[in-house]
Amino acid sequence: MQFRDLARVFDRLESTSSRLEMIDTLASLFSSADGKTARKIVYLLQGRVAAPYTGIELGIGEKLAMAAISRAYGVDISDVEREYKEKGDLGLVAEALSANKKQMTLFSQPLTVDRVYSNFYRIATASGYGSQDLKLRLLVDLLNDAEPLEARYIIRIPLGKLRLGVGDATIIEALALAVLGSRDYRPDVERAYNLCSDLGYVAELLYEKGLEGIRSMGIVVGIPIRPALAQRAQSAEEIIARLGRCAAEAKYDGFRCQIHKKGDQVWIFSRRMENMTDMFPDLIAAAKALPADTIVFEGEAIAVNENTGEFYPFQMTIQRKRKYGVSEASKEYPLYLFAFDIMYLNGETLIERPYRERRQILEGILRDRKRIQPSEKIETDSADELEAFFESCVERGLEGIVAKDLNAPYIAGARKWSWIKLKRSYRGELSDTIDVVILGYYKGRGKRSQFGLGGILVGVYDPDEDSFKTIAKVGSGFTEEQLVEMKKLLDDIAVSHRPARVSAFLEPDVWVEPRYVITVTADEITRSPNHTAGWDGSRGYALRFPRIVGWVRDDKGPEDATTVQEIIDMYKDQKHVQVSENEA
Ligand code: ATP
Repeated sequence: MQFRDLARVFDRLESTSSRLEMIDTLASLFSSADGKTARKIVYLLQGRVAAPYTGIELGIGEKLAMAAISRAYGVDISDVEREYKEKGDLGLVAEALSANKKQMTLFSQPLTVDRVYSNFYRIATASGYGSQDLKLRLLVDLLNDAEPLEARYIIRIPLGKLRLGVGDATIIEALALAVLGSRDYRPDVERAYNLCSDLGYVAELLYEKGLEGIRSMGIVVGIPIRPALAQRAQSAEEIIARLGRCAAEAKYDGFRCQIHKKGDQVWIFSRRMENMTDMFPDLIAAAKALPADTIVFEGEAIAVNENTGEFYPFQMTIQRKRKYGVSEASKEYPLYLFAFDIMYLNGETLIERPYRERRQILEGILRDRKRIQPSEKIETDSADELEAFFESCVERGLEGIVAKDLNAPYIAGARKWSWIKLKRSYRGELSDTIDVVILGYYKGRGKRSQFGLGGILVGVYDPDEDSFKTIAKVGSGFTEEQLVEMKKLLDDIAVSHRPARVSAFLEPDVWVEPRYVITVTADEITRSPNHTAGWDGSRGYALRFPRIVGWVRDDKGPEDATTVQEIIDMYKDQKHVQVSENEA
Protein backbone atom coordinates (compact mmCIF):
# COMPACT_ATOMS: atom_id res chain seq x y z
CA MET A 1 0.00 0.00 0.00
CA GLN A 2 1.20 3.49 -0.83
CA PHE A 3 1.86 5.72 2.16
CA ARG A 4 0.09 8.47 0.22
CA ASP A 5 -3.22 6.59 0.70
CA LEU A 6 -2.65 6.36 4.43
CA ALA A 7 -1.67 10.03 4.67
CA ARG A 8 -4.92 11.00 2.93
CA VAL A 9 -6.88 8.94 5.42
CA PHE A 10 -5.04 10.61 8.31
CA ASP A 11 -5.92 13.96 6.84
CA ARG A 12 -9.57 13.02 6.58
CA LEU A 13 -9.64 11.63 10.12
CA GLU A 14 -8.09 14.82 11.39
CA SER A 15 -10.84 16.99 10.03
CA THR A 16 -13.90 14.88 10.78
CA SER A 17 -16.01 15.42 13.86
CA SER A 18 -18.13 12.33 13.41
CA ARG A 19 -17.09 9.02 14.88
CA LEU A 20 -19.18 7.01 12.42
CA GLU A 21 -17.43 8.72 9.55
CA MET A 22 -14.13 7.82 11.20
CA ILE A 23 -15.14 4.17 11.33
CA ASP A 24 -16.22 4.16 7.67
CA THR A 25 -13.05 5.91 6.53
CA LEU A 26 -10.88 3.45 8.43
CA ALA A 27 -12.91 0.44 7.33
CA SER A 28 -12.47 1.29 3.68
CA LEU A 29 -8.73 1.70 4.26
CA PHE A 30 -8.57 -1.70 6.00
CA SER A 31 -10.54 -3.29 3.17
CA SER A 32 -7.76 -2.52 0.76
CA ALA A 33 -5.00 -3.84 3.02
CA ASP A 34 -3.62 -7.32 3.66
CA GLY A 35 -3.05 -8.69 7.19
CA LYS A 36 0.56 -7.59 7.53
CA THR A 37 -0.16 -4.08 6.31
CA ALA A 38 -3.25 -3.82 8.52
CA ARG A 39 -1.08 -4.65 11.51
CA LYS A 40 1.31 -1.83 10.63
CA ILE A 41 -1.55 0.60 10.04
CA VAL A 42 -3.01 -0.23 13.45
CA TYR A 43 0.29 0.51 15.16
CA LEU A 44 0.76 3.74 13.23
CA LEU A 45 -2.77 4.85 14.16
CA GLN A 46 -1.80 4.26 17.78
CA GLY A 47 1.37 6.31 17.17
CA ARG A 48 3.47 3.20 17.75
CA VAL A 49 5.45 0.54 15.91
CA ALA A 50 4.74 -2.35 18.29
CA ALA A 51 2.48 -3.23 21.21
CA PRO A 52 3.13 -1.35 24.47
CA TYR A 53 4.34 -4.48 26.30
CA THR A 54 7.32 -4.83 23.96
CA GLY A 55 8.79 -1.65 25.39
CA ILE A 56 9.58 -0.51 21.83
CA GLU A 57 8.62 3.15 21.86
CA LEU A 58 8.75 5.40 18.85
CA GLY A 59 9.87 8.84 19.86
CA ILE A 60 12.18 11.58 18.69
CA GLY A 61 12.85 15.04 20.05
CA GLU A 62 12.02 18.29 18.29
CA LYS A 63 15.72 19.00 17.71
CA LEU A 64 16.13 15.85 15.67
CA ALA A 65 12.98 16.55 13.68
CA MET A 66 14.20 20.07 12.90
CA ALA A 67 17.61 18.77 11.87
CA ALA A 68 15.97 16.25 9.52
CA ILE A 69 13.74 18.90 7.97
CA SER A 70 16.68 21.24 7.51
CA ARG A 71 18.80 18.59 5.86
CA ALA A 72 16.06 17.13 3.65
CA TYR A 73 14.98 20.50 2.27
CA GLY A 74 18.35 22.23 2.27
CA VAL A 75 17.23 25.09 4.51
CA ASP A 76 19.01 26.63 7.45
CA ILE A 77 18.08 25.30 10.87
CA SER A 78 17.30 28.86 12.00
CA ASP A 79 14.75 29.12 9.19
CA VAL A 80 13.13 25.87 10.35
CA GLU A 81 12.98 27.28 13.87
CA ARG A 82 11.40 30.51 12.66
CA GLU A 83 8.79 28.63 10.65
CA TYR A 84 8.08 26.45 13.67
CA LYS A 85 7.47 29.50 15.85
CA GLU A 86 5.04 30.77 13.29
CA LYS A 87 3.15 27.54 12.58
CA GLY A 88 3.49 25.86 15.96
CA ASP A 89 3.65 22.43 14.32
CA LEU A 90 6.75 20.85 12.78
CA GLY A 91 4.55 18.59 10.64
CA LEU A 92 3.12 21.67 8.93
CA VAL A 93 6.63 23.13 8.56
CA ALA A 94 7.80 19.97 6.77
CA GLU A 95 4.68 20.01 4.60
CA ALA A 96 5.25 23.61 3.50
CA LEU A 97 8.95 23.17 2.80
CA SER A 98 8.27 19.96 0.92
CA ALA A 99 5.79 21.80 -1.29
CA ASN A 100 8.49 24.34 -2.23
CA LYS A 101 11.02 21.67 -2.88
CA LYS A 102 8.71 19.62 -5.04
CA GLN A 103 9.03 22.05 -7.87
CA MET A 104 12.77 21.40 -7.98
CA THR A 105 13.02 17.63 -7.71
CA LEU A 106 12.05 15.45 -10.60
CA PHE A 107 13.17 12.14 -9.31
CA SER A 108 11.76 10.35 -6.33
CA GLN A 109 10.66 6.89 -5.23
CA PRO A 110 7.05 6.78 -3.97
CA LEU A 111 6.77 5.83 -0.30
CA THR A 112 5.02 2.65 0.75
CA VAL A 113 3.50 1.94 4.18
CA ASP A 114 6.08 -0.87 4.54
CA ARG A 115 9.01 1.45 4.00
CA VAL A 116 7.76 4.16 6.35
CA TYR A 117 6.95 1.61 9.04
CA SER A 118 10.31 -0.08 8.65
CA ASN A 119 12.23 3.21 8.99
CA PHE A 120 10.15 4.11 12.06
CA TYR A 121 10.80 0.70 13.55
CA ARG A 122 14.53 1.17 13.08
CA ILE A 123 14.29 4.64 14.65
CA ALA A 124 12.47 3.16 17.64
CA THR A 125 15.02 0.41 18.17
CA ALA A 126 18.25 2.35 17.44
CA SER A 127 20.36 2.74 20.53
CA GLY A 128 23.89 3.47 21.65
CA TYR A 129 26.75 5.06 19.78
CA GLY A 130 25.78 6.62 16.45
CA SER A 131 22.06 6.08 17.01
CA GLN A 132 21.16 9.78 16.75
CA ASP A 133 22.86 9.98 13.41
CA LEU A 134 21.13 6.84 12.19
CA LYS A 135 17.71 8.20 13.26
CA LEU A 136 18.44 11.41 11.40
CA ARG A 137 19.38 9.57 8.21
CA LEU A 138 16.28 7.37 8.40
CA LEU A 139 14.01 10.39 8.73
CA VAL A 140 15.77 12.33 5.96
CA ASP A 141 15.47 9.27 3.73
CA LEU A 142 11.69 9.35 4.13
CA LEU A 143 11.37 13.12 3.79
CA ASN A 144 13.40 13.07 0.58
CA ASP A 145 10.76 10.97 -1.12
CA ALA A 146 7.70 12.38 0.62
CA GLU A 147 4.94 14.44 -0.95
CA PRO A 148 3.85 17.42 1.19
CA LEU A 149 0.97 15.67 2.94
CA GLU A 150 3.15 12.63 3.62
CA ALA A 151 5.87 14.86 5.08
CA ARG A 152 3.35 16.26 7.58
CA TYR A 153 2.78 12.80 9.06
CA ILE A 154 6.35 11.54 8.75
CA ILE A 155 7.28 14.27 11.18
CA ARG A 156 4.22 14.16 13.42
CA ILE A 157 4.15 10.39 14.01
CA PRO A 158 7.60 9.98 15.63
CA LEU A 159 7.11 13.25 17.53
CA GLY A 160 4.02 11.65 19.13
CA LYS A 161 1.77 14.35 17.67
CA LEU A 162 -0.48 12.47 15.31
CA ARG A 163 -3.56 13.72 17.16
CA LEU A 164 -6.18 11.95 15.10
CA GLY A 165 -8.35 11.23 18.11
CA VAL A 166 -8.85 7.63 17.01
CA GLY A 167 -9.33 5.33 20.00
CA ASP A 168 -8.87 1.57 20.17
CA ALA A 169 -12.62 0.97 20.14
CA THR A 170 -12.92 2.90 16.87
CA ILE A 171 -10.13 0.84 15.30
CA ILE A 172 -11.78 -2.36 16.55
CA GLU A 173 -15.14 -1.46 15.01
CA ALA A 174 -13.50 -0.51 11.73
CA LEU A 175 -11.66 -3.85 11.62
CA ALA A 176 -14.86 -5.77 12.39
CA LEU A 177 -16.66 -3.91 9.62
CA ALA A 178 -13.86 -4.30 7.06
CA VAL A 179 -12.96 -7.95 7.67
CA LEU A 180 -16.14 -9.51 9.08
CA GLY A 181 -18.67 -7.29 7.37
CA SER A 182 -20.34 -5.85 10.47
CA ARG A 183 -19.57 -3.71 13.49
CA ASP A 184 -21.60 -6.21 15.51
CA TYR A 185 -18.47 -8.35 15.78
CA ARG A 186 -16.86 -5.74 18.01
CA PRO A 187 -17.13 -8.01 21.14
CA ASP A 188 -15.20 -10.82 19.42
CA VAL A 189 -12.37 -8.55 18.35
CA GLU A 190 -12.42 -6.90 21.75
CA ARG A 191 -12.17 -10.24 23.57
CA ALA A 192 -9.05 -11.17 21.60
CA TYR A 193 -7.57 -7.73 22.26
CA ASN A 194 -8.30 -8.06 25.99
CA LEU A 195 -6.38 -11.31 26.11
CA CYS A 196 -3.23 -10.07 24.42
CA SER A 197 -3.25 -6.24 24.52
CA ASP A 198 -1.74 -6.16 21.03
CA LEU A 199 -4.27 -4.75 18.58
CA GLY A 200 -1.84 -5.04 15.64
CA TYR A 201 -1.48 -8.75 16.26
CA VAL A 202 -5.25 -9.20 16.57
CA ALA A 203 -5.74 -7.39 13.25
CA GLU A 204 -3.30 -9.68 11.47
CA LEU A 205 -4.84 -12.78 13.04
CA LEU A 206 -8.28 -11.60 11.96
CA TYR A 207 -7.19 -11.25 8.33
CA GLU A 208 -5.43 -14.61 8.34
CA LYS A 209 -7.62 -16.83 10.47
CA GLY A 210 -10.96 -15.00 10.44
CA LEU A 211 -13.59 -15.06 13.16
CA GLU A 212 -12.70 -18.58 14.34
CA GLY A 213 -9.05 -17.57 14.67
CA ILE A 214 -9.75 -14.75 17.07
CA ARG A 215 -12.44 -16.68 18.93
CA SER A 216 -10.03 -19.50 19.74
CA MET A 217 -7.19 -17.24 20.82
CA GLY A 218 -5.92 -17.94 24.34
CA ILE A 219 -3.43 -16.47 26.79
CA VAL A 220 0.23 -16.32 25.74
CA VAL A 221 2.76 -16.29 28.56
CA GLY A 222 4.92 -13.18 28.18
CA ILE A 223 2.13 -11.12 26.59
CA PRO A 224 0.00 -9.12 29.06
CA ILE A 225 -3.74 -9.53 29.48
CA ARG A 226 -5.81 -6.36 29.79
CA PRO A 227 -6.72 -6.12 33.47
CA ALA A 228 -10.12 -6.82 35.01
CA LEU A 229 -11.56 -3.70 36.69
CA ALA A 230 -13.90 -3.08 39.57
CA GLN A 231 -17.25 -1.34 39.85
CA ARG A 232 -17.79 0.80 42.93
CA ALA A 233 -20.30 0.51 45.74
CA GLN A 234 -21.28 2.96 48.47
CA SER A 235 -21.87 0.49 51.27
CA ALA A 236 -21.40 -3.06 52.50
CA GLU A 237 -25.17 -3.61 52.23
CA GLU A 238 -25.12 -2.74 48.58
CA ILE A 239 -22.39 -5.31 47.96
CA ILE A 240 -24.28 -8.07 49.76
CA ALA A 241 -27.48 -7.11 47.94
CA ARG A 242 -25.69 -7.52 44.63
CA LEU A 243 -23.48 -10.54 45.27
CA GLY A 244 -25.00 -12.40 48.21
CA ARG A 245 -22.29 -14.54 49.76
CA CYS A 246 -19.02 -13.21 48.43
CA ALA A 247 -15.32 -12.88 49.03
CA ALA A 248 -13.82 -9.57 50.11
CA GLU A 249 -10.15 -8.74 49.88
CA ALA A 250 -8.11 -5.89 51.30
CA LYS A 251 -7.61 -3.13 48.71
CA TYR A 252 -3.92 -2.27 48.74
CA ASP A 253 -2.98 1.13 47.38
CA GLY A 254 0.18 0.15 45.56
CA PHE A 255 1.28 -0.71 42.07
CA ARG A 256 -0.73 -3.26 40.09
CA CYS A 257 1.54 -5.98 38.71
CA GLN A 258 0.73 -8.75 36.28
CA ILE A 259 3.45 -11.35 36.61
CA HIS A 260 4.25 -13.91 33.91
CA LYS A 261 6.76 -16.67 34.42
CA LYS A 262 7.95 -19.30 31.99
CA GLY A 263 10.73 -21.47 33.39
CA ASP A 264 13.38 -19.05 34.48
CA GLN A 265 12.03 -16.10 32.58
CA VAL A 266 9.85 -13.52 34.34
CA TRP A 267 7.96 -10.50 33.03
CA ILE A 268 6.14 -7.89 35.11
CA PHE A 269 3.55 -5.68 33.46
CA SER A 270 1.82 -2.55 34.76
CA ARG A 271 -1.90 -1.75 34.76
CA ARG A 272 -1.27 -0.12 31.37
CA MET A 273 0.51 -3.25 30.16
CA GLU A 274 3.94 -1.70 30.01
CA ASN A 275 6.88 -3.94 30.71
CA MET A 276 8.15 -2.95 34.16
CA THR A 277 10.27 -6.01 34.80
CA ASP A 278 13.46 -4.08 35.55
CA MET A 279 11.79 -2.12 38.31
CA PHE A 280 11.15 -5.13 40.53
CA PRO A 281 14.27 -7.29 41.01
CA ASP A 282 13.07 -8.53 44.40
CA LEU A 283 9.74 -9.69 42.99
CA ILE A 284 11.43 -11.39 40.04
CA ALA A 285 13.52 -13.50 42.38
CA ALA A 286 10.44 -14.45 44.38
CA ALA A 287 8.46 -15.27 41.22
CA LYS A 288 11.25 -17.48 39.88
CA ALA A 289 11.11 -19.53 43.05
CA LEU A 290 7.39 -20.33 42.69
CA PRO A 291 6.52 -23.98 42.19
CA ALA A 292 5.12 -23.61 38.64
CA ASP A 293 6.62 -23.94 35.16
CA THR A 294 4.36 -21.40 33.55
CA ILE A 295 2.11 -19.06 35.45
CA VAL A 296 0.31 -15.76 34.96
CA PHE A 297 -1.01 -14.07 38.06
CA GLU A 298 -1.79 -10.64 39.38
CA GLY A 299 -1.39 -8.65 42.55
CA GLU A 300 -0.65 -5.31 44.11
CA ALA A 301 2.96 -4.48 44.95
CA ILE A 302 3.35 -2.25 47.94
CA ALA A 303 6.24 -1.12 50.10
CA VAL A 304 6.05 -2.38 53.66
CA ASN A 305 7.83 -1.14 56.76
CA GLU A 306 9.32 -4.42 57.95
CA ASN A 307 9.67 -3.22 61.55
CA THR A 308 6.10 -2.16 62.08
CA GLY A 309 4.27 -4.10 59.36
CA GLU A 310 2.71 -0.84 58.14
CA PHE A 311 2.14 -0.13 54.49
CA TYR A 312 3.87 2.84 52.93
CA PRO A 313 1.71 5.18 50.90
CA PHE A 314 1.45 4.75 47.14
CA GLN A 315 3.81 7.67 46.54
CA MET A 316 6.57 5.83 48.37
CA THR A 317 6.03 2.71 46.29
CA ILE A 318 6.15 4.64 43.07
CA GLN A 319 9.21 6.60 44.11
CA ARG A 320 11.35 3.62 43.40
CA LYS A 321 10.49 4.15 39.79
CA ARG A 322 11.28 7.83 39.76
CA LYS A 323 13.73 8.96 42.34
CA TYR A 324 16.00 6.26 43.59
CA GLY A 325 18.13 3.67 41.93
CA VAL A 326 16.05 0.52 41.88
CA SER A 327 18.43 -1.53 44.02
CA GLU A 328 18.76 1.22 46.64
CA ALA A 329 15.00 1.56 46.84
CA SER A 330 14.48 -2.18 47.24
CA LYS A 331 16.55 -2.04 50.43
CA GLU A 332 14.91 1.01 51.90
CA TYR A 333 11.33 0.23 50.90
CA PRO A 334 11.06 -3.53 50.54
CA LEU A 335 8.22 -4.46 48.24
CA TYR A 336 5.70 -7.20 48.90
CA LEU A 337 3.24 -8.50 46.39
CA PHE A 338 -0.28 -9.26 47.56
CA ALA A 339 -1.58 -11.59 44.88
CA PHE A 340 -5.29 -11.48 44.12
CA ASP A 341 -5.85 -13.52 40.96
CA ILE A 342 -4.40 -16.21 38.75
CA MET A 343 -5.13 -16.51 35.03
CA TYR A 344 -2.92 -19.31 33.76
CA LEU A 345 -1.01 -22.24 35.19
CA ASN A 346 1.20 -24.87 33.57
CA GLY A 347 -0.34 -24.70 30.12
CA GLU A 348 -3.92 -24.21 31.26
CA THR A 349 -5.95 -21.03 30.88
CA LEU A 350 -7.88 -20.44 34.09
CA ILE A 351 -9.85 -17.29 33.32
CA GLU A 352 -13.09 -19.13 32.59
CA ARG A 353 -12.98 -20.88 35.98
CA PRO A 354 -14.93 -19.35 38.88
CA TYR A 355 -13.11 -17.03 41.27
CA ARG A 356 -13.48 -19.56 44.08
CA GLU A 357 -11.42 -22.15 42.18
CA ARG A 358 -8.83 -19.69 40.93
CA ARG A 359 -8.32 -18.40 44.43
CA GLN A 360 -7.80 -21.92 45.76
CA ILE A 361 -5.20 -22.64 43.08
CA LEU A 362 -3.46 -19.34 43.83
CA GLU A 363 -3.31 -20.06 47.55
CA GLY A 364 -1.88 -23.51 46.81
CA ILE A 365 0.94 -22.05 44.74
CA LEU A 366 1.74 -19.37 47.32
CA ARG A 367 1.69 -21.59 50.41
CA ASP A 368 4.42 -20.56 52.88
CA ARG A 369 5.70 -17.73 50.69
CA LYS A 370 6.52 -14.36 52.20
CA ARG A 371 7.52 -11.91 49.47
CA ILE A 372 4.57 -12.90 47.32
CA GLN A 373 1.54 -13.81 49.39
CA PRO A 374 -2.19 -14.02 48.81
CA SER A 375 -4.13 -10.86 49.55
CA GLU A 376 -5.98 -10.81 52.85
CA LYS A 377 -9.46 -12.18 52.33
CA ILE A 378 -12.69 -13.12 54.07
CA GLU A 379 -15.83 -14.82 52.81
CA THR A 380 -19.21 -13.73 54.12
CA ASP A 381 -22.88 -13.15 53.44
CA SER A 382 -23.29 -10.65 56.24
CA ALA A 383 -23.19 -6.92 55.60
CA ASP A 384 -22.09 -6.34 59.20
CA GLU A 385 -19.14 -8.67 58.84
CA LEU A 386 -18.21 -7.06 55.56
CA GLU A 387 -18.44 -3.62 57.13
CA ALA A 388 -16.24 -4.73 60.03
CA PHE A 389 -13.62 -6.07 57.62
CA PHE A 390 -13.77 -2.79 55.68
CA GLU A 391 -13.28 -0.78 58.89
CA SER A 392 -10.32 -2.89 59.94
CA CYS A 393 -8.67 -2.43 56.53
CA VAL A 394 -9.17 1.33 56.63
CA GLU A 395 -7.82 1.54 60.18
CA ARG A 396 -4.64 -0.12 59.03
CA GLY A 397 -4.12 2.49 56.34
CA LEU A 398 -5.48 0.41 53.45
CA GLU A 399 -7.71 1.94 50.80
CA GLY A 400 -10.76 -0.19 51.50
CA ILE A 401 -11.89 -3.55 50.14
CA VAL A 402 -12.60 -5.23 46.83
CA ALA A 403 -15.49 -7.70 46.97
CA LYS A 404 -15.50 -10.55 44.48
CA ASP A 405 -18.27 -12.68 43.03
CA LEU A 406 -17.35 -16.23 44.00
CA ASN A 407 -18.68 -17.70 40.76
CA ALA A 408 -17.42 -15.17 38.24
CA PRO A 409 -14.71 -15.75 35.62
CA TYR A 410 -11.80 -13.34 35.27
CA ILE A 411 -13.23 -10.72 32.92
CA ALA A 412 -10.27 -9.19 31.11
CA GLY A 413 -10.35 -5.55 30.09
CA ALA A 414 -13.78 -4.76 31.53
CA ARG A 415 -15.33 -3.10 34.55
CA LYS A 416 -18.00 -5.50 35.78
CA TRP A 417 -19.95 -6.20 38.97
CA SER A 418 -17.91 -9.36 39.57
CA TRP A 419 -15.44 -7.06 41.36
CA ILE A 420 -16.82 -4.28 43.53
CA LYS A 421 -14.67 -1.79 45.37
CA LEU A 422 -15.65 0.03 48.53
CA LYS A 423 -13.27 2.82 49.38
CA ARG A 424 -12.89 4.96 52.44
CA SER A 425 -14.80 8.16 51.97
CA TYR A 426 -13.99 11.71 52.77
CA ARG A 427 -16.34 13.82 54.79
CA GLY A 428 -18.26 16.38 52.79
CA GLU A 429 -17.03 15.01 49.51
CA LEU A 430 -18.11 12.31 47.12
CA SER A 431 -17.56 8.79 48.33
CA ASP A 432 -14.87 8.35 45.72
CA THR A 433 -12.66 10.52 43.59
CA ILE A 434 -13.33 10.78 39.87
CA ASP A 435 -10.74 10.31 37.15
CA VAL A 436 -11.49 12.82 34.41
CA VAL A 437 -9.95 13.41 30.99
CA ILE A 438 -8.70 16.89 30.18
CA LEU A 439 -10.44 18.14 27.03
CA GLY A 440 -9.35 21.76 26.85
CA TYR A 441 -8.43 24.81 28.86
CA TYR A 442 -9.53 28.38 29.56
CA LYS A 443 -6.97 31.13 29.47
CA GLY A 444 -7.99 32.70 32.75
CA ARG A 445 -8.80 36.23 33.77
CA GLY A 446 -7.47 38.62 36.37
CA LYS A 447 -4.70 37.13 38.46
CA ARG A 448 -4.79 33.86 36.57
CA SER A 449 -4.14 35.53 33.22
CA GLN A 450 -0.42 35.72 34.04
CA PHE A 451 -0.27 31.92 33.91
CA GLY A 452 -2.15 31.67 30.63
CA LEU A 453 -4.41 29.02 32.16
CA GLY A 454 -7.29 29.63 34.51
CA GLY A 455 -9.08 26.31 34.42
CA ILE A 456 -9.62 23.14 32.47
CA LEU A 457 -12.63 21.55 30.80
CA VAL A 458 -12.83 17.92 31.77
CA GLY A 459 -14.95 14.94 30.83
CA VAL A 460 -15.71 11.31 31.52
CA TYR A 461 -15.65 8.35 29.16
CA ASP A 462 -18.61 6.77 27.38
CA PRO A 463 -17.44 3.28 26.33
CA ASP A 464 -20.54 2.53 24.24
CA GLU A 465 -19.94 5.51 22.00
CA ASP A 466 -16.18 5.55 22.58
CA SER A 467 -16.42 9.26 23.27
CA PHE A 468 -15.70 11.80 25.99
CA LYS A 469 -18.52 13.80 27.58
CA THR A 470 -17.91 16.97 29.54
CA ILE A 471 -18.73 17.06 33.24
CA ALA A 472 -16.99 20.11 34.76
CA LYS A 473 -14.79 23.15 34.47
CA VAL A 474 -12.10 22.81 37.08
CA GLY A 475 -10.12 25.78 38.32
CA SER A 476 -9.48 24.89 41.96
CA GLY A 477 -6.83 22.86 43.65
CA PHE A 478 -3.99 24.00 41.41
CA THR A 479 -0.84 25.51 42.85
CA GLU A 480 0.73 28.32 40.80
CA GLU A 481 3.49 25.97 39.63
CA GLN A 482 0.88 23.47 38.54
CA LEU A 483 -0.93 26.10 36.45
CA VAL A 484 2.29 26.82 34.58
CA GLU A 485 3.15 23.15 34.23
CA MET A 486 -0.37 22.27 33.08
CA LYS A 487 -0.32 24.93 30.39
CA LYS A 488 2.93 23.56 29.02
CA LEU A 489 1.59 20.01 28.95
CA LEU A 490 -1.63 21.06 27.26
CA ASP A 491 -0.10 23.36 24.67
CA ASP A 492 1.86 20.40 23.50
CA ILE A 493 -1.33 18.49 22.64
CA ALA A 494 -3.49 21.43 21.54
CA VAL A 495 -5.70 20.92 18.49
CA SER A 496 -7.44 23.44 16.28
CA HIS A 497 -11.01 22.20 16.71
CA ARG A 498 -13.11 19.99 18.93
CA PRO A 499 -11.79 16.43 18.57
CA ALA A 500 -14.22 14.01 16.92
CA ARG A 501 -14.62 11.87 20.02
CA VAL A 502 -15.46 14.79 22.29
CA SER A 503 -19.06 15.76 22.83
CA ALA A 504 -19.52 19.20 24.40
CA PHE A 505 -21.74 22.27 24.56
CA LEU A 506 -19.06 24.40 26.15
CA GLU A 507 -16.19 25.75 24.13
CA PRO A 508 -12.87 26.12 25.93
CA ASP A 509 -10.33 28.68 24.68
CA VAL A 510 -8.06 25.84 23.59
CA TRP A 511 -9.10 22.29 22.73
CA VAL A 512 -6.65 19.51 23.41
CA GLU A 513 -6.36 15.92 22.33
CA PRO A 514 -8.00 13.78 25.04
CA ARG A 515 -4.89 12.24 26.51
CA TYR A 516 -4.34 13.18 30.14
CA VAL A 517 -6.30 11.85 33.08
CA ILE A 518 -6.40 13.73 36.35
CA THR A 519 -8.16 12.91 39.60
CA VAL A 520 -10.74 15.33 40.97
CA THR A 521 -13.09 15.42 43.88
CA ALA A 522 -16.25 17.51 44.31
CA ASP A 523 -18.92 18.30 46.83
CA GLU A 524 -21.55 16.47 44.87
CA ILE A 525 -22.82 15.46 41.48
CA THR A 526 -25.67 17.63 40.20
CA ARG A 527 -27.83 17.84 37.06
CA SER A 528 -26.93 20.59 34.63
CA PRO A 529 -27.90 21.74 31.14
CA ASN A 530 -24.29 22.70 30.38
CA HIS A 531 -22.66 19.32 30.29
CA THR A 532 -23.05 16.34 27.97
CA ALA A 533 -22.22 13.52 30.44
CA GLY A 534 -25.40 11.45 30.78
CA TRP A 535 -27.39 13.89 28.58
CA ASP A 536 -31.08 12.94 28.53
CA GLY A 537 -32.31 15.57 26.10
CA SER A 538 -32.48 18.36 28.65
CA ARG A 539 -29.84 17.78 31.31
CA GLY A 540 -26.53 16.08 31.85
CA TYR A 541 -24.46 15.58 35.01
CA ALA A 542 -21.99 18.04 36.49
CA LEU A 543 -19.63 18.28 39.43
CA ARG A 544 -20.29 20.87 42.11
CA PHE A 545 -17.16 22.62 43.40
CA PRO A 546 -14.74 20.34 41.62
CA ARG A 547 -11.08 20.50 42.56
CA ILE A 548 -8.05 18.55 41.48
CA VAL A 549 -6.36 16.16 43.86
CA GLY A 550 -2.98 14.95 42.74
CA TRP A 551 -1.58 15.35 39.27
CA VAL A 552 -1.80 13.86 35.78
CA ARG A 553 -1.98 10.07 36.18
CA ASP A 554 0.65 8.18 34.29
CA ASP A 555 -1.03 4.87 35.09
CA LYS A 556 -4.22 5.73 33.21
CA GLY A 557 -5.04 6.43 29.59
CA PRO A 558 -8.15 8.40 28.54
CA GLU A 559 -10.27 5.27 28.14
CA ASP A 560 -9.44 4.33 31.74
CA ALA A 561 -11.19 7.43 33.07
CA THR A 562 -14.39 7.20 35.12
CA THR A 563 -17.32 6.32 32.86
CA VAL A 564 -20.65 8.08 32.37
CA GLN A 565 -22.42 5.05 33.86
CA GLU A 566 -20.28 5.24 37.00
CA ILE A 567 -21.22 8.91 37.39
CA ILE A 568 -24.89 8.03 37.07
CA ASP A 569 -24.48 5.29 39.69
CA MET A 570 -22.65 7.65 42.02
CA TYR A 571 -25.38 10.25 41.54
CA LYS A 572 -28.10 7.73 42.42
CA ASP A 573 -26.23 6.49 45.48
CA GLN A 574 -25.71 10.03 46.64
CA LYS A 575 -29.43 10.70 46.34
CA HIS A 576 -30.12 7.56 48.24
CA VAL A 577 -27.90 8.79 51.06
CA GLN A 578 -29.61 12.17 51.11
CA VAL A 579 -33.08 10.66 51.13
CA SER A 580 -32.32 8.34 54.00
CA GLU A 581 -30.71 11.18 55.93
CA ASN A 582 -33.83 13.30 55.46
CA GLU A 583 -36.03 10.45 56.49
CA ALA A 584 -34.01 9.94 59.65
P1 ATP B 1 -8.51 2.89 41.80
O1 ATP B 1 -7.98 4.26 41.44
O2 ATP B 1 -9.71 2.89 42.71
O3 ATP B 1 -7.46 1.91 42.21
P2 ATP B 1 -8.55 1.74 39.19
O4 ATP B 1 -9.37 2.26 38.03
O5 ATP B 1 -7.08 1.87 39.12
O6 ATP B 1 -9.15 2.39 40.48
P3 ATP B 1 -10.21 -0.50 39.68
O7 ATP B 1 -10.27 -1.72 38.87
O8 ATP B 1 -11.36 0.41 39.64
O9 ATP B 1 -8.84 0.21 39.36
O10 ATP B 1 -10.01 -0.89 41.20
C1 ATP B 1 -9.30 -2.00 41.53
C2 ATP B 1 -7.85 -1.64 41.67
O11 ATP B 1 -7.46 -1.85 43.01
C3 ATP B 1 -7.00 -2.55 40.83
O12 ATP B 1 -6.62 -1.89 39.64
C4 ATP B 1 -5.81 -2.88 41.70
O13 ATP B 1 -4.69 -2.12 41.29
C5 ATP B 1 -6.19 -2.43 43.08
N1 ATP B 1 -6.28 -3.51 44.07
C6 ATP B 1 -5.71 -3.50 45.29
N2 ATP B 1 -6.01 -4.58 45.97
C7 ATP B 1 -6.79 -5.36 45.20
C8 ATP B 1 -7.43 -6.62 45.35
N3 ATP B 1 -7.31 -7.33 46.47
N4 ATP B 1 -8.15 -7.10 44.32
C9 ATP B 1 -8.29 -6.39 43.17
N5 ATP B 1 -7.71 -5.19 42.98
C10 ATP B 1 -6.97 -4.67 43.96
